[in-house]
Amino acid sequence: MFEQLIHFIRDLYRLPTGPIPLHAPTFTARDKELVLDAINSTLVSSVGQYVDKFEEMLAVYTGAKRAVATVNGTSALQAALKLVGVQNGDEVITQPLTFVATANAIVHAGAEPVFVDVNTNTLGMSPEALVAWLKANAETRKEAQANVDNNQSPHQSFNKHTGRRIAAIVPMHTFGHPCRIFEIVEIARQWSIPVVEDAAEALGSWVGNTHCGLIGNLGILSFNGNKTITCGGGGAILTNNQVLADKAKHLTTTAKVPHPWEFEHNEVGYNFRLPNLNAALACAQMERLESILKEKQSIARAYGDYFQKFSWADFCEETEGTTSNYWLNAIILYNQDARDAFLKQSNTFGVMTRPAWKLMTELPMYANCQKGSLDNAQWLRQRIVNLPSGVRNHV
Ligand SMILES: *Cc1c(COP(=O)(O)O)cnc(C)c1O
Repeated sequence: MFEQLIHFIRDLYRLPTGPIPLHAPTFTARDKELVLDAINSTLVSSVGQYVDKFEEMLAVYTGAKRAVATVNGTSALQAALKLVGVQNGDEVITQPLTFVATANAIVHAGAEPVFVDVNTNTLGMSPEALVAWLKANAETRKEAQANVDNNQSPHQSFNKHTGRRIAAIVPMHTFGHPCRIFEIVEIARQWSIPVVEDAAEALGSWVGNTHCGLIGNLGILSFNGNKTITCGGGGAILTNNQVLADKAKHLTTTAKVPHPWEFEHNEVGYNFRLPNLNAALACAQMERLESILKEKQSIARAYGDYFQKFSWADFCEETEGTTSNYWLNAIILYNQDARDAFLKQSNTFGVMTRPAWKLMTELPMYANCQKGSLDNAQWLRQRIVNLPSGVRNHV
């Protein structure tokens, strides 16, 4: 049955021989044209029109009031955490089934990650697990000094056992499948905790008519080489809050105060600005986003139909009321031995497949972090395999 799927993937990608990557970027004449234009202009770095243009295109596509481009998704997440008020010594709740950047950005922002379980259908943070952890560990207090600038309520939540503030919740939209973000945001509101959505994998994913990343206080995207569209390296912060957007721009561009010649900086900012050279490529890729997403939908449908017929693995579908970009198609095999056998056979025959990430709690630097019961994440970790998901043509 594994062999039959490997043949099916080769047919799907019209590649009878040779390697089939998990997710390779595609580049067109237009991509080259805009990159060359940036080079010819000499404005390859911190000045030039493409960064503004890219931010505008992102805002128009996602429906965000503002998008702020950054040098990568990890830096966008670190800055977003700072912007919702995360400080040194705080705790930030996230999920254990994620790419390591999610947890790293929390630590880079000065906080300690806490891991709560995921749902087996969305693969993202479980509202039930979040509530269970908060009920067992958190209490809300009224603080005299609220950060009114960030629209923070005077109430804040603290960990009853460690005494630390719980400063943010970071759900992640795994493989582009939206998690139950509206429920998570409602729970967070009850506990007065801001939400930063790690939507790094979710450009083109929606909950109803709302784009992922725009339901929490802030959301972030990534344009790394393996994502749905890429500009080599890049990221963005999405928001409907103009004040936070202005602060995001300021904080990620060395906190420079505008002036025709003076170098004045009014806080310790970050050099997280996306270079104009990368932004040129990002603009060209954005022009093709809709057709790339359509192509990814058709690949996902083909896999979905296949696993309707052959039920030895479950294909991970978007859940009701959501639209997934199907960034990486995923199947759930019946146990870890089956997963390992399929990984071995497919990779041996040149069809690149990968298991899900090790859980964050399995990594040495996060092994001793606080966590809830992680049964679903462990169950998924043993069974998930990602299948080739890149677009087939230069659409
Ligand atoms: C890709 C990714 C990031 C980080 O993006 P970079 O642009 O590589 O820094 C963060 N979180 C998740 C879940 C990702 O998949």
